[in-house]
Amino acid sequence: MALQIPFSPPDITEDEIQAVSQVMRSGWITTGPRVREFESALQNYLGVKDIVCLNSATAGLELVLRMWGIGEGDEVIVPAYTYAATANVVLHTGAVPVMADCAPGSFNIDPQEIHRKITPRTRAVIPVDFGGWPADYDEIIRVLEEHKSDFKPAHPRQESLGRILLLADSAHAFGAEYKGRKLGGVADITVFSFHAVKNLTTGEGGAVAFSDTLAGADLARELRLWALHGQNKDAHAKQLAGGWRYEILLPGYKHNMTDLAGALGLVQLKRYSSLMGSRKKLYEYYDFLLSEGEWFIRPPFQSADKLSSWHLYPLRIRDAGEEKRDRLILAMNQAGIGVNVHFIPLPLHPLYQRLGYVIRHYPEAYRMYENEISLPLYSQLSQESAEQVVTQLEKLV
Ligand SMILES: *Cc1c(COP(=O)(O)O)cnc(C)c1O
Repeated sequence: MALQIPFSPPDITEDEIQAVSQVMRSGWITTGPRVREFESALQNYLGVKDIVCLNSATAGLELVLRMWGIGEGDEVIVPAYTYAATANVVLHTGAVPVMADCAPGSFNIDPQEIHRKITPRTRAVIPVDFGGWPADYDEIIRVLEEHKSDFKPAHPRQESLGRILLLADSAHAFGAEYKGRKLGGVADITVFSFHAVKNLTTGEGGAVAFSDTLAGADLARELRLWALHGQNKDAHAKQLAGGWRYEILLPGYKHNMTDLAGALGLVQLKRYSSLMGSRKKLYEYYDFLLSEGEWFIRPPFQSADKLSSWHLYPLRIRDAGEEKRDRLILAMNQAGIGVNVHFIPLPLHPLYQRLGYVIRHYPEAYRMYENEISLPLYSQLSQESAEQVVTQLEKLV
């Protein structure tokens, strides 16, 4: 049965369709001028100098780890409360994902947990800005600085930074702000996702932003190599007159963004402040509608230090456990409303259980998960539909 109120459809207008059609008619559909244009538009929007677009956030996270010389024998700290991508990229490199619990009452990683989990093998930490709500970056950086004196670099990149790498999984948080700065320039390296369900979409896609405190131009150049077979020219440069000769410099992967995606992203970015505005309004409306109940714990979206990108509305049902929450989801679905759970903590999945992770070591993550229910949130959701969602939910609760 099709849902009457879906969970998160993409917002695509005639402008996106026109832009992609133009690329299709142009004779050049893969990485080329549209991707370069999208990268500079992203640089302007985020206020950072160096950005590389790729075909996913997952690819970005993995390539950064590889570029940083991370592999077997190394450890990377990731949240227990995240999507599989954050941990799987670590597994791909041969390193061990070390999971950290949530801060009490928060969906985000606990900086104190990071402190406790750091060992001489720790090479990177990957916080997630869950639902668009920024992680506690200053506290995390303080922890990494504290451990600076016992950091032993095992790669020139690690040596030049001089401490554990702060690599942000900002898949949810494009446009979110921390202490007045847009994410992208806050962590050492920040990875965004443009997957179909994310705030800004290119169908599939992602971008890696380098903080201005790093040698960003140099890093961006190397990342482009890693993303395209280590080839020193992309296909577009090769097809220009006299451009046939190229060199393979390192054993790279195949993770470049297409111009079809770049064109889509350019239009989405132009519309982005309006897309964000609709999400913010809905967020505030949900907050208003749900404010009466002693039943609900609402997600944060604005504080002195942080501004959300309003990616998810992760509501918690006070005192509910997994079983009650699951029944609620079923009943909401039966009423034609698309709701979801973000996320099933990694230690509850068979893969990570086989690898030895146990949920009881992450009690805060479990507490956040057991009563979480993500309400529909997307730019075209009407106020009437939002009201219908809340009415139905309150009735069921
Ligand atoms: C969506 C998501 C990713 C992966 O993004 P892709 O672009 O699909 O690779 C990574 N981390 C989190 C937290 C996500 O939600």
